Amino acid sequence: MKHLIDTTTEFSKDINMEFGLDKCKTLHIIRGKIQPGDYTINTTDTITAMEPTDLYKYLGYKQLKGIDHTAIKNTLNTEYKRRVTAICKTQLTGKHLIKALNTYAIPILTYSFGIIKWSKTDIQQIERTTRTTLTKHNNLHPKSAIERLTIKRQNGGRGLIDINHLWQKQINRLKTFFYTKSHTSNIHKAVAVNDHNYTPLNLHEQPDTQHNDTIDPQTQKIEDWKKKVLHGRHPHDLEQPHIDTIASNKFLKIGNLFPETEGFIIAIQDQIINTKNYRKYIIKDPTATNDKCRKCHTQPETIQHITGACTTLTQTDYTHRHNQVANIIHQKLALKHKLIQDTNTPYYNYTPQTVLENTTHKLYYDRAILTDRTIHYNRPDITLQDKINKITYLIDIAVPNTHNLQKTIGEKITKYADLKEEVTRIWRQDKVYVVPIVVSTTGVIPNHLHHSLKLIDLKDSTYIQLQKAAILNTCRIVRKFMQLDEN
Ligand SMILES: [Zn+2]
Repeated sequence: MKHLIDTTTEFSKDINMEFGLDKCKTLHIIRGKIQPGDYTINTTDTITAMEPTDLYKYLGYKQLKGIDHTAIKNTLNTEYKRRVTAICKTQLTGKHLIKALNTYAIPILTYSFGIIKWSKTDIQQIERTTRTTLTKHNNLHPKSAIERLTIKRQNGGRGLIDINHLWQKQINRLKTFFYTKSHTSNIHKAVAVNDHNYTPLNLHEQPDTQHNDTIDPQTQKIEDWKKKVLHGRHPHDLEQPHIDTIASNKFLKIGNLFPETEGFIIAIQDQIINTKNYRKYIIKDPTATNDKCRKCHTQPETIQHITGACTTLTQTDYTHRHNQVANIIHQKLALKHKLIQDTNTPYYNYTPQTVLENTTHKLYYDRAILTDRTIHYNRPDITLQDKINKITYLIDIAVPNTHNLQKTIGEKITKYADLKEEVTRIWRQDKVYVVPIVVSTTGVIPNHLHHSLKLIDLKDSTYIQLQKAAILNTCRIVRKFMQLDEN
């Protein structure tokens, strides 16, 4: 609060003389103007005066007559950018990268809110810097939904601190503090009355009670995100009654993907991958003459077409993704029923054996079941028989696009109805269950998956692994596809 005592005709600043006078500077201000002249202590010692361009540090901020806002903002901006870049160059996972930005980069700015005069434009520029730096390091698609970056992870965002909200919140809190204090303290009252836009708090104006920080901008941001034509499709999908929203966002909450993969699956969910359809109809690129798929040449090349509907990928990429998900289920069942011992093989290196059997259980992988009459669908991905209880589980895996989840689950159940009947009869089973294990290409989890996992007595948290396998494989499929030549 140096400015308040500036009104005295002369103000000298002498810093700790015992530490050597050469370190000291003097500053004379008369009626707001800096006066030249060194300060003579005795015949031999003088303290040199500060020049009008000199700055000293007070509470970490350089100042002379007052705070040099522009210089400090430049310094803070440079340091902020340096830290964001440094964090982007680390090998941190998606969640930890954001956490590092929140706790190591953003506090550089937080400390200055309410003291340094930042404008709305300054704050927007900082937010832009954050986004462009993330983009430069492949961690954020430049066309991603902006809201998603600062929406909480459990709500489908990436969990970065909302700098604009933090800035307003801090100013409002400081303002409220001064007003509350004004009732009992004369100095706070004097400051509040006289601050005509002199500080960023502009205490002369009442605190903005409409915009207090009890309003959570999260809700508003989620609403804004949903309203977007293209970006909004994914949050809309998550709201469907057959979808488990929390589970579908679990991969973000856990955040153990590389930030590059995390940014990429979000771009796929946001539907902003540079497909031929996107170029022709969304960005309306005049050079995009047609939108036919570069591989099958029959269907429009949309992101959904690439992730789950191109017939040329069915036998290769989609099968691989499907098998990876099947591996997880098979390996867990085989271990659970003591049909295998090795617990160290990761699922992506695991090869299920066609038949595993012991005294209590039988486990088939991709094996046709012999029946008396011809059954069209007699080959579920996994067949588990509990010999003791005479129960058989016909388990079939699928990784469809999100909008096909419900349909796929229904189809599996209908498809194996005949086999279910035959197995009950021929194997003399007390109970036969058809168990669809279905997770979407972008990791969206239908409620039904929990039911299926419970039925085969696997831990509910298994869905987290299935989700990750689906996401990693979808990212790989889309990357590979987008590298192909367009003709
Ligand atoms: Zn195609």
